Amino acid sequence: MKKLALLSVSDKTGIVDFAKQLEARDYEVVSTGGTLKALVDGGVKAISVEKITNFDEMLDGRVKTLHPRIHAGILARRDNETHMQQIADQGINPIDLVCVNLYPFKETIEKPSVTDEEAIENIDIGGPSMLRAAAKNSQDVIVITDVNDYAEFIKRYDADQLDADYHRHLAAKVFRHTAAYDALIAQYLTKEEFPEKLTLTYEKVQDMRYGENSHQKAAYYSEPIPEKYSLANAKQLHGKELSYNNVRDADAALRIIAEFPEQPAVVALKHMNPCGIGTADDLLSAWNLAYESDPISIFGGIIALNREVDLATAEKMHAIFLEIVIAPSFTDEAYDVLAKKKNIRLLTVPFGPIDAKGKDEVSVLGGMLVQDRDLLHETAANFKVVSKVQPTAEQLKALAFGQNAVKHVKSNAIVVTTANQTLGVGAGQPNRIDSTKIAIEKAETKPNYDQAILASDAFFPMDDCVEFAAKHGIKAIVEPGGSIKDQDSIAKADELGVALVFSGARHFKH
Ligand code: 5GP
Repeated sequence: MKKLALLSVSDKTGIVDFAKQLEARDYEVVSTGGTLKALVDGGVKAISVEKITNFDEMLDGRVKTLHPRIHAGILARRDNETHMQQIADQGINPIDLVCVNLYPFKETIEKPSVTDEEAIENIDIGGPSMLRAAAKNSQDVIVITDVNDYAEFIKRYDADQLDADYHRHLAAKVFRHTAAYDALIAQYLTKEEFPEKLTLTYEKVQDMRYGENSHQKAAYYSEPIPEKYSLANAKQLHGKELSYNNVRDADAALRIIAEFPEQPAVVALKHMNPCGIGTADDLLSAWNLAYESDPISIFGGIIALNREVDLATAEKMHAIFLEIVIAPSFTDEAYDVLAKKKNIRLLTVPFGPIDAKGKDEVSVLGGMLVQDRDLLHETAANFKVVSKVQPTAEQLKALAFGQNAVKHVKSNAIVVTTANQTLGVGAGQPNRIDSTKIAIEKAETKPNYDQAILASDAFFPMDDCVEFAAKHGIKAIVEPGGSIKDQDSIAKADELGVALVFSGARHFKH
């Protein structure tokens, strides 16, 4: 008796050739409506599923293969005499190979004009049932859902290498696929913000050479339909493949620069912290400000720019060693200058606001944490002056700029800025006064330090930060407020003649 192969595919790529290869290896091919037509047109002597089920396809194809004569043929254990006797009694032949790919649910919901009805009609029912049945009985059945596996199967068949490991590998692949397929349907239908069960549907973008360090293996995954403004939608125009650390840093840079859409802006970033942020009326000036923020740290940095990169800015960037330059676009001349360096990674991303519906996730041992993004953009309208000294209008602008910068710095975070440039960044110290000292030490050397303000991501637990800043010439400070010792900081500000402003919102970044 010939072996039976059941082929039912939405994506018909390579299916005729595969069926011919199966025929040549003594398989009898059985198939559903559309697939059968493609096969017969292609010269394959396939038979229809109806011949096996004695039951016509019905309900617009909702029921084609959902039949005991199909499922018993797939699920019967070959080493179980009772199973084999039972199917024999019913005149059912075992099905040895199942090749199914599913209704294109993802492609359907990706269409901007998709209706719910269309989406729901593209939920495959019979396909996953056959795949899951074949994968469950993978000891006896070959199950193929990936077009790329056709050739591998034939190669192994010819080399007599259809071993248990291969059967299991195909089965695992099927359950990953059907799980992700169902997860995407669930995600599409889900309205709850933090549902009882999360759906994880990530798809591999690339294997990476290694993770954070060379002894750690790593891969990069994206959402199946990534939000528009994201690294997952970046186009790499030039340079080495992105590394694990590159992806994290570039993502951080994209998040920071999204704070400053109104004007040309440049963010220089190192190890997840900004080392320079500049905004100006033109991109070159913004670059100069970001660069001068910290000309030492920018070496080997990740640069995000929110306007098309022009020749003048490109020439400046070309003069130093940079890992990544990411922008909405590059002029041809700018690209030519930057691409002279072989390794520099040049990326474009469709700029736009960060998706407010998106969530941020971090893994913890045994689980993950999920939260809304910190998209609270600070403006002077949120501020409350708590000192006797009032900040000037220019200082208020700088305080808002500082708050929008400091929220992207690892806590404890302090930045010293003007209204359009960071002058000193104090990141990630386990106490706030040390971060203050680092930020001020860096800022003090800058020619425009006399315009500087200081911004803190969280409240001052005591008055030492205000005291240190005031004694080093800072004239205006913004912090969220909310400490039981707020009064001490206010008193210190009044004593030393500094404007102190409460923003009311903490921006921890751990
Ligand atoms: P065809 O183009 O051959 O008519 O249909 C192939 C598609 O139908 C495959 O994607 C397969 O997963 C799906 N399919 C097979 N059997 C059934 C069934 O009984 N119900 C539904 N809804 N889909 C099926």
